[in-house]
Amino acid sequence: MNLPIYLDNHATTPMDQRVLDAMLPYFREHFGNPSSIGHVYGWEAEAAVSKARETIAHAINSTPNELVFTSGATEANNLAIKGVAEAYFSKGRHLITVQTEHKAVLDPCKYLETLGFEVTYLPVQSDGLIDLALLEKSIRPDTILVSVMAANNEIGVLQPIAQIGAICKQYNVLFHTDAAQAIGKIPLDVQAMNIDLMSLTAHKVYGPKGIGALYVRRSPNKVKLAPQIQGGGQEQGRRSGTLCTPQIVGFGQAIAIALEEQPAENERIKGLKDRLWQICGKIEGIHLNGHPTEGLAGNLNVSIEGVDGNALLLGLRSVVALASGSACSSTNVAPSHVLTALGRADKLAYASLRVGIGRFNTMAEMEEVGQAIIKTVKTLRKSQVF
Ligand SMILES: *Cc1c(COP(=O)(O)O)cnc(C)c1O
Repeated sequence: MNLPIYLDNHATTPMDQRVLDAMLPYFREHFGNPSSIGHVYGWEAEAAVSKARETIAHAINSTPNELVFTSGATEANNLAIKGVAEAYFSKGRHLITVQTEHKAVLDPCKYLETLGFEVTYLPVQSDGLIDLALLEKSIRPDTILVSVMAANNEIGVLQPIAQIGAICKQYNVLFHTDAAQAIGKIPLDVQAMNIDLMSLTAHKVYGPKGIGALYVRRSPNKVKLAPQIQGGGQEQGRRSGTLCTPQIVGFGQAIAIALEEQPAENERIKGLKDRLWQICGKIEGIHLNGHPTEGLAGNLNVSIEGVDGNALLLGLRSVVALASGSACSSTNVAPSHVLTALGRADKLAYASLRVGIGRFNTMAEMEEVGQAIIKTVKTLRKSQVF
């Protein structure tokens, strides 16, 4: 067994060997610029980019020209939120999002507030789901965008995206979803779910870091978007910059594999999670965070009473690599904003563990990690004074 066991698959995933194999030729042999329309080097690169674009479009039931490649979901979220705000500000200056969103959604929203936009941050219920009636009530005549993530990166909760899309359509408000944790894990269909903009990233689904995409609806109603990066006019002027062919090829390959293996993988990963919870659930004062059934197969988020979260991580670090609260704020001593939004007391939030189980984890690892958590909690409870 490779120690420490990697159970931080919400932060990033190891790249699949098949993805790397697909990418390698595009670093050296086929190094052309996909925008070079005058020679075979450019054509080869453009053909590879087109193929990946088609694969990703097919996975979300969009057309290829509705995808804008970006450096990842952070950039896609920024482009969606700031790009829509800038393009629609004469229609209205109100946006709606959720308290438990990723910082890559919350921070652009906060920035827009400094420019005079108004943002409603919807609370969540204790299971992490939003209240659809409250969403509907929060929509105003000047609301231009609703942004609700598909799957939460801390507690794995899956929001009712299709229902949210239907509400947005009914009120003629654009709907953006951050699907960084959802793509390749749950079925996504921009038509059936009435999604107008969707952020994607490759590195949460066994692809390379530094590549993602924003889906932007073209029909029946074309979404207007003000570009945030200007220059050579790539991606129909929506995101300039030379396309990174190897990363895009890797993204396409990662999505193709995920699509093919997703149903069976979800079953297997859920089996791993159930086993880990069977072992750890016996710990006294352990609580499951998030919704009991509406969640990502590989997510397990727990709070443990009377144990310091950082001490727990330190105690476990030689056996298992996982996160306390959000990976993006693990140096931050404040409790996770997601657990706080669930109404978890600060003390409980401090002692939280986020387990992200992925493609390369095994049942034997669950046994090892489960026993290690039990043992470490026991040791800490003996030595800590609370
Ligand atoms: C990882 C993540 C992001 C950021 O994606 P990058 O591609 O790393 O920029 C945004 N939103 C969610 C929900 C994430 O999990």
